[in-house]
Amino acid sequence: MGRRWSREDEGQAQEEEEVVMGMFDTVNVPCPTCQTVAGFQSKSGDCLLMEYTLEEAPSDVLTDVNRHGPVTCEKCGTRYSVKLTVTTVVVVWTSEDEDDT
Ligand SMILES: [Zn+2]
Repeated sequence: MGRRWSREDEGQAQEEEEVVMGMFDTVNVPCPTCQTVAGFQSKSGDCLLMEYTLEEAPSDVLTDVNRHGPVTCEKCGTRYSVKLTVTTVVVVWTSEDEDDT
C-alpha cells in the first residue's frame, strides 16, 4: 500500500447526493467522536433548503431529523443519530372554536 497514485482521478470528487424528491432542510450535526459535521435531512419543517446547526434548528425540523438516520461518520465510521428529548411541556387553555394558527 506504499505506492503513490498518479493524480488522474482527481477532480472526480464523489459526492453522495441523494436523489432529491422535493425540498428538505439540513441540520448539521457533529460526530460525537471526531466532530466531523454531517448533514441530517428533515422534511418536517418549512423545507426551504435551509441549513441549521443543531442549536438553531427549529423544533419542527428536528422532529424529522432522523428520517435518514442513523448517519455513519465518513471520517471515523461512528454511527450516530439525533435523540430528541422533550424538555418543556406547556399546557395551554384553548377555546373550542379556535383554529390552530
Ligand atoms: Zn466521526
